[in-house]
Amino acid sequence: MELNSMKINEIKELMEELGEKAYRAEQIFRFIHQHNGRDIAELKQIPLDLRGKLKENYFISDMKIFKKFSSEQDSTVKFLYLLDDGNIIESVVMKYEHGYSLCISTQVGCRMGCSFCASTKEGLVRNLTAGELLNQLYLAEEDLNIRISNIVLMGSGEPLDNLCNVDRFFDIINHDKGRNISLRNITLSTCGVVPGIYELAAKDIPITLSISLHSPFDEKRAEIMPIAKRYKLGELLKALKYYSEKTGRRITFEYTLIENENDREEDVREMARLMKGMLCHVNLIPLNPIKEYNKGRPEKKGVLSFQRKLLEFGIPTTIRREMGSDISASCGQLRRSFIEHNK
Ligand code: SAH
Repeated sequence: MELNSMKINEIKELMEELGEKAYRAEQIFRFIHQHNGRDIAELKQIPLDLRGKLKENYFISDMKIFKKFSSEQDSTVKFLYLLDDGNIIESVVMKYEHGYSLCISTQVGCRMGCSFCASTKEGLVRNLTAGELLNQLYLAEEDLNIRISNIVLMGSGEPLDNLCNVDRFFDIINHDKGRNISLRNITLSTCGVVPGIYELAAKDIPITLSISLHSPFDEKRAEIMPIAKRYKLGELLKALKYYSEKTGRRITFEYTLIENENDREEDVREMARLMKGMLCHVNLIPLNPIKEYNKGRPEKKGVLSFQRKLLEFGIPTTIRREMGSDISASCGQLRRSFIEHNK
């Protein structure tokens, strides 16, 4: 069993089972989540015999920085991590005025099949555990000697396809005996897995929910993202309205701009119609071309004009700042090119 995926209450229960004092749980939890402890043998705060008992059935999952790429254009750093089982995942650290933000992966690969996304081209390999989600943060902080203030679940994988582990991650990361990052500083991005949105709403936690929209028309959206065949826009928007009413949080829509595909006047109009009266915000992402998808991004002025039109409809709209493009810091591209070269 993976000790670093366990909530503090679960470790308390374990201590009880082992006939140990409850305060040992806090020592173990702090060792892992505040001191980046990886080896149970080094858990000197607890007695030797308890360390021995723990080691029989428990371990702290680790990973290694396999490669690190630092952008020369900005301070973006991309990590390729090697997991215990030989899989590779990636995370990106970005520096903003308000501090450091980390983009983490939630799965090895992805089974959602979005046409322009590099992460999904090899399908889903497996879910990441809560410990592996946390390790992406701990290793990046340790290596760069920084404190990360914001986390976005926008790397490889679909977080709502791994909600059980993501939920554990939220619980552990937010704990005051652990790394104690506010849930308000965490954003979860989904391609629109409707039941997952309701599950998340039921948890009533103050994270920001971000939805990959990419087209306001069902048919076009389904061409770009297979999930849209399963959950139509009507159903998705109903779930989002429910979510924002339940949590009082503003929804973000991500919209990847693809030239002559979803950047037309009628797209703007339909978006405005769908979003009318919703507490929301649009983030435009000019497409990062990948070789498996033969479409491009609109020119800069097309992107600006799309933004302006949405603003004219009263929809708050920003353009994703491009970071680390010299290190292909976006969207699963590094892991993918690594896998291709090592086949
Ligand atoms: N599975 C989740 C989170 C991962 S992707 C989701 O779909 O939201 C994070 C965002 O990057 C999504 O909006 C996704 O559609 C977008 N994206 C993926 N590949 C891209 C590319 N090549 N160019 C631009 N945006 C891309």
